[in-house]
Amino acid sequence: MWACVQRRAPAPGIAVPGLYTQPTVQTMLIAVRARRVIPLAGEGPSRDPRDLFSPPRVLDDHVVVIRGVFLDGAARVLPLVLAGLRGGVIEAVEPMDAFRRRAGVPLADLGDVTLIPGVVNCHTHLELSHLAGRTVLGGGFVPWVKSLLSLTGAGAGAETPPEARASALADAARQLAACHTAHVGDITAVAPAAVRRALQAASIGCSHFAEVFGYRFATPGGEPAAPADTAALWPQAMAELLADDVMVDVEGDAEGGAKGGPGAPFPVHPDAALAGHALYSTHPVALAAARRWCERNHRVFSMHLAEHPDEVEFLTTGRGALADLLAVRVLPPGFAAPGMRPVPYAAELGLLDEGTLAVHCVQLDAADIRLLAESGAHVCLCPRSNAAIDVGAAPARALAEAGAPLCLGTDSLASNHDLDLWNEARALRNLPAGHDLPPAALLRLLTARGASALGRGDIGVIAPGRRARLALLPQDFSEALGTTP
Ligand SMILES: [Zn+2]
Repeated sequence: MWACVQRRAPAPGIAVPGLYTQPTVQTMLIAVRARRVIPLAGEGPSRDPRDLFSPPRVLDDHVVVIRGVFLDGAARVLPLVLAGLRGGVIEAVEPMDAFRRRAGVPLADLGDVTLIPGVVNCHTHLELSHLAGRTVLGGGFVPWVKSLLSLTGAGAGAETPPEARASALADAARQLAACHTAHVGDITAVAPAAVRRALQAASIGCSHFAEVFGYRFATPGGEPAAPADTAALWPQAMAELLADDVMVDVEGDAEGGAKGGPGAPFPVHPDAALAGHALYSTHPVALAAARRWCERNHRVFSMHLAEHPDEVEFLTTGRGALADLLAVRVLPPGFAAPGMRPVPYAAELGLLDEGTLAVHCVQLDAADIRLLAESGAHVCLCPRSNAAIDVGAAPARALAEAGAPLCLGTDSLASNHDLDLWNEARALRNLPAGHDLPPAALLRLLTARGASALGRGDIGVIAPGRRARLALLPQDFSEALGTTP
């Protein structure tokens, strides 16, 4: 990130006067001009579907003025702006005529394009990127997850060399950058630090969700136990993130006592939160504890919800292909299914409100849609992952019309062809009539609504004070949005 550019210093003990020249680090203004800018600023979170579907305000021939800390001045900056459209903070959004009165601010004219906020991919598993093309698709969830476990589980014979993982991760970050991704919400269990480094190299922000999974959790004494609201719940991923990054907050557990008390504090990475894997795979007490922790620490809680028919069958009856799989690996002795559909069960556990990001939400009946929308939980749609695994299609339009706040995610490369969120929007647009969403709604899901779902007030719209993370509107959407002359 530009804000993190550091001065190079000579190596200690090697002083060669006259040979070392310091690069110039400057805080300065630069500007980009576009024929059209869709800022989406000032719209605010709204539960009214008319606000979601209405044409966005389009500013003709505007300039976005950006303040940033830049290395070696404008000569290095403008090519970076054109290549990546990332970095700095927005100083102003103004008509070209007004900008002409600013003297000495270098301007990059992007030409006949439409500038929008950088896109926000709300659900990825980037640490699975090396599994692209290696899982079983098209046969439903259980065959898919079995193939995933055969590649990642204990004793998996097909271990991928670290260099291949790193290379797949770097490719994934490049894919995200190529479609002007500003930020991702990434579920992590085993390699959060590697994910963070790959994204930082591509100037992409990340909300890390360290995933809580399973029915048995180690206590500080090492004994497996039902989870309580203690460090026993804490995923290893969070500790790894902290160890790798110097940007650390330390926050206490409000119910566990003051900082330094027993069971607390939990050191917290500023961009990290907890996720629960799913209702069928994870102890309900652990899910509720993770949710409460997120609430107390002002973080979004995320979980997979109502993704596939096997989940509904398992939770309502305790039977089916998922039950057989879980019995071998996950479920404790004497486990009894709750006998409820996923959405009411999640609501009963206290997992659904404005602070929750529920991912997939495919298997919903009319009552589920109402309950989900009334809860205020954000819903992340992943239509291409759902199609690839063959678990059905989320009732996107009905959710939108009920007032559920929606956003988009690609899911991982283990269940999708690429990480281009625009392709996700195209897939949603092509869903059968009654499920699809109009382009104006998709534009908001891709940007402002995604930022809101991840609790990020610093991105998602083009407005003074926000991060200058910008994207270009693809031509096919420009036409559909009516933004071309
Ligand atoms: Zn997922």
